[in-house]
Amino acid sequence: MRSLVIEPRWIWDAAGGLRGGRFVIVQDGRIADVVTERPTLDAERIALPDGFLLPGFVNLHNHAFSAPLFRGLADDIEEGDLPGDIVYALLMPLGDIAAEALSEEEIGDVAEMALIETLKGGSTTIMDVWRLQQAPFIERGRRLGLRTYSCPYLFSTPKMDMTPDGRPITAPPAADTGFDTVMDLFRRYDEGPRGRTRIGFGPHGLDTCTPELLTRIGRTVEEIGCPLTIHAAQSDVELQIVRERYGKSPIEHLRDMELLRPGTVLAHCVKATDEELAIIRAQDAAVASCPYAFARSGLGVPFARFLDSGVRLGVGTDGVGLDMVAELRAAQMLAKVQAGRGGIASAEAMLRSATAGGATAIGRDDLGTLAKGAAADLLLFDLSAARYQPVWNPLQALLTSGVAADLRLLMVDGVALLRDGRVTTADEAAVTRRGAAAIRKVWDKARALGRIPARVAARGAA
Ligand SMILES: [Zn+2]
Repeated sequence: MRSLVIEPRWIWDAAGGLRGGRFVIVQDGRIADVVTERPTLDAERIALPDGFLLPGFVNLHNHAFSAPLFRGLADDIEEGDLPGDIVYALLMPLGDIAAEALSEEEIGDVAEMALIETLKGGSTTIMDVWRLQQAPFIERGRRLGLRTYSCPYLFSTPKMDMTPDGRPITAPPAADTGFDTVMDLFRRYDEGPRGRTRIGFGPHGLDTCTPELLTRIGRTVEEIGCPLTIHAAQSDVELQIVRERYGKSPIEHLRDMELLRPGTVLAHCVKATDEELAIIRAQDAAVASCPYAFARSGLGVPFARFLDSGVRLGVGTDGVGLDMVAELRAAQMLAKVQAGRGGIASAEAMLRSATAGGATAIGRDDLGTLAKGAAADLLLFDLSAARYQPVWNPLQALLTSGVAADLRLLMVDGVALLRDGRVTTADEAAVTRRGAAAIRKVWDKARALGRIPARVAARGAA
């Protein structure tokens, strides 16, 4: 592969900080060097006078498929619209219907549409949790060239029903938890610790997975070295169920099953106490926080507490918008409001979480950095537009005023997947048309079956 020299105005990564006057040399998918003299080697050159180069974002918790599936329909939910928690009353049932109603090709189209959105929003790595039908997602991700950590859901109880007063009823244990399917996907697709396509376990949560299943997963993860992510301490319903069954909190329960360890990504942890955050930190597990998704339901995420606790912290979009620039801005604002302190969640702290924080959470010291030898997963933003002027500090410019549309170049392993605003590895318009049609089909089916609350189903009738 021909070498590439990128000549931005600024570069930044968490370890090296903000620097000007640097030339970044990309060779064979890696950052070959970062130098201060313009290299004379025979190479393609990308020069951007107001360019800001930084490591690609690691979108640490996500349900790419859910973003278009629920878009505009799970918003502005009023009390009484749903008989209980949104997870059990809407998100899980609709996911079931999607898995039944769509062909593998259609699932692939929705997944690819979501992945294109992800890519255009600055993510080079995405840790995604969906159903066992995740193979089309994996295939489309490979075709697009994105770095995907796919962790299909596992359940001991396949679904939860609701009582009339909105309490979840646990179904009898399932014969098939999905364990073997994940192992099959792992054997078929996983490329190993430094690979671009990774397969791991995504046990849904502590209220839907038995200790036996979770312990088995924990042992397997240790044996084969695959990713592991789980929702933890995310809702009052979960806290209550775990307390009733095991007499402890979700974080204590995870600790006692020895699942808190390096490489474990805990999604949300919004109900974790300071003591529990200290436990997570001591065990070197990571928290994936998605403030925007929670804010949409009127719920706060203690992002400022996460930052103060020193816990390993990454950010994810959790299947609302898949745009990390927008997510980081929302997360920053919400953290400041919650803490009542303007100084918390600085632009640098946010970008650190989105790059090095997310990368170390999944055990990748070759991602989230511009160090020599790191994978060339890069973002080049153009900060020449009026909205950024004057640029005193490109980090603050991006966090305060940035839009993903100003992303000029996105690379994974040294391959440009986005160049001058265009996706290079897919027909974006065609994929979008097919993906949107598939989502309409799911909602039509949901309405016909009457399996989701009528007031919400009516929103998809137009
Ligand atoms: Zn989630």
